[in-house]
Amino acid sequence: MATNGEEQQNQAGRHQEVGHKSLLQSDALYQYILETSVYPKEPECMKELREVTAKHPWNIMTTSADEGQFLNMLLKLVNAKNTMEIGVYTGYSLLATALAIPEDGKILAMDINRENYELGLPVIQKAGVAHKIDFKEGPALPVLDQMIEDGKCHGSFDFIFVDADKDNYINYHKRLIELVKVGGLIGYDNTLWNGSVVAPPDAPMRKYVRYYRDFVLELNKALAADPRIEICMLPVGDGITLCRRIQ
Ligand code: SAM
Ligand code: CA
Repeated sequence: MATNGEEQQNQAGRHQEVGHKSLLQSDALYQYILETSVYPKEPECMKELREVTAKHPWNIMTTSADEGQFLNMLLKLVNAKNTMEIGVYTGYSLLATALAIPEDGKILAMDINRENYELGLPVIQKAGVAHKIDFKEGPALPVLDQMIEDGKCHGSFDFIFVDADKDNYINYHKRLIELVKVGGLIGYDNTLWNGSVVAPPDAPMRKYVRYYRDFVLELNKALAADPRIEICMLPVGDGITLCRRIQ
C-alpha cells in the first residue's frame, strides 16, 4: 500500500487540470517517451519542422513528435501509398506521412489556410518529398463531395488522417467511408479531446475545448456503432481513433 507521502507525490505528478495536453500520468513519463524513443530517432527534417512550428503563435495545433513517429510507422506497416490528410497546419503529420509512403505515393492534403502550410513547405521540399503532396486550399467537405460525385476515387485511399474542424468529423466520416478502400484506415485525431470526454459538465475547461467536446463525444459514439468499421482508440497524443473499413 502507498504511504501518505507516496500518495501525495503521486497526486502531485498527475495532471489535475482538464485540458492538459498529455494524457499520461505525468509530464516526466511523457518526457521519458520523447527522450528515450522519439527524439533519438526523429529525422532531422521533422526536428527542423518542429522547431519552425514552435515559433508560430498557434503551435498548440501541431501534431506531437510521438504521434508523428507513430503515424510514420503505421503508414509503413500498412504499406500505404494513396493517402489523404484533412488539416495540415504547418505540416508535421504531413511530413511524417510523406516520409513513410513510397516515392510514387500520394497525399491529397487539404487546409483552409495556405500560409501555415507554406511556413513548413521549405522543410518538406528540402526533405525531397514535396512531389508526393497535392495541397488544396479551402474547406475539405466540398472537395470530398466532388470526389464522390465524380465516382473516380471510391474505395481508393489506403490511409486518411483527419485532424481539422472537430464539428465536421461526422460529416467527413459519411464521405470518407466511401473513399477509403475496404481494409484501409481512417485515423481521427483528438478523440480524447484533452481528456475532456470524461470531465463533469461543470469542470473548468478552455472555451474551445468545451465547444468541441460534444462533437467529439458524438463522433466517438457514432464510430463505435458503425458496422462498416473496426475501431481502436489509442491514447497517443490527444487520442487517435483508427477505423479499419471492413465493408
Ligand atoms: N495535422 C496538423 C499538424 O500535424 O500540425 C495539425 C492540424 S490543426 C490541429 C487543424 C487544421 O485544420 C488547421 O490548420 C485549420 O486551418 C484546418 N481546418 C479547419 N477547418 C478546416 C476545414 N473545414 N477544411 C480543411 N481544413 C480545416
Ligand atoms: Ca491533432
